[in-house]
Amino acid sequence: MTTTSIKVLGCSGGVGGIARTTSFLIDQDVLLDAGTGVMNLALHQLAAIDHVLITHAHLDHIVSLPLLLDSVAAMRKKPLQVYAQADTIEVLRTHIFNWQIWPDFSQIPDAKNPYLQFNTIAVNEPVVIGGREIKPVAVEHTVPAVGYIIKGEQGSFAFSGDMTENDHFWQVLNQYSDLKYLVVETTFPDEQIELTKLSKHLCPAMLTSELAKLQLNPDIFITHLMPGGEKTIMDQIKGHMPDKGLHQLQADHIFKI
Ligand SMILES: [Zn+2]
Ligand SMILES: [Zn+2]
Repeated sequence: MTTTSIKVLGCSGGVGGIARTTSFLIDQDVLLDAGTGVMNLALHQLAAIDHVLITHAHLDHIVSLPLLLDSVAAMRKKPLQVYAQADTIEVLRTHIFNWQIWPDFSQIPDAKNPYLQFNTIAVNEPVVIGGREIKPVAVEHTVPAVGYIIKGEQGSFAFSGDMTENDHFWQVLNQYSDLKYLVVETTFPDEQIELTKLSKHLCPAMLTSELAKLQLNPDIFITHLMPGGEKTIMDQIKGHMPDKGLHQLQADHIFKI
């Protein structure tokens, strides 16, 4: 096994200015979510992506996938492999790759040699891509959703995806004694706790009670902050947990594991 790098392409809850939505590039060939951050990549970098793992079907996490396929499909020699839960694949087939919003790239140029192939994942069953082990973990959100844990030779990296209060994610995480980094969402400030609960995200007060379930001590980075709310959210997090030293995740940050 060699060192795995995980580059942040986008880590905002929305767009505007330099804000880009959720996407990580693992080494050169794997995407974790396909938000607007993908659009910053050069054409040859887009063409080098062979695998895309999706947390859930919400637009801010998948919007670049149809555009990516259209831009590079003809440059590629093998299908782009997309990995998601069955429910998520069904939504992508029905509502995106339906010949109305976008062509069905799993049928073109023909069904035997398509530009796109869907792979169904099951929670807690790792996907192994080029020796890299990536485990989907069920999380609680308004639609079926997973986070992911990536094992590296120097430790593990965990990403919550979009989620609200739950025990399962933390129970799984606590089994990774080598957990080096945790990227966890906090979308809204505490003033919007009702909206946070309705949309099944986290606010700083909820994050604080969630992190109390974590028995490990990784470096923790906050992601998916609503545009314009970043300072308020980070100030509230630091107010609730002054001793924890949590960071706001930034685009272009590279994790090495
Ligand atoms: Zn979502
Ligand atoms: Zn989202």
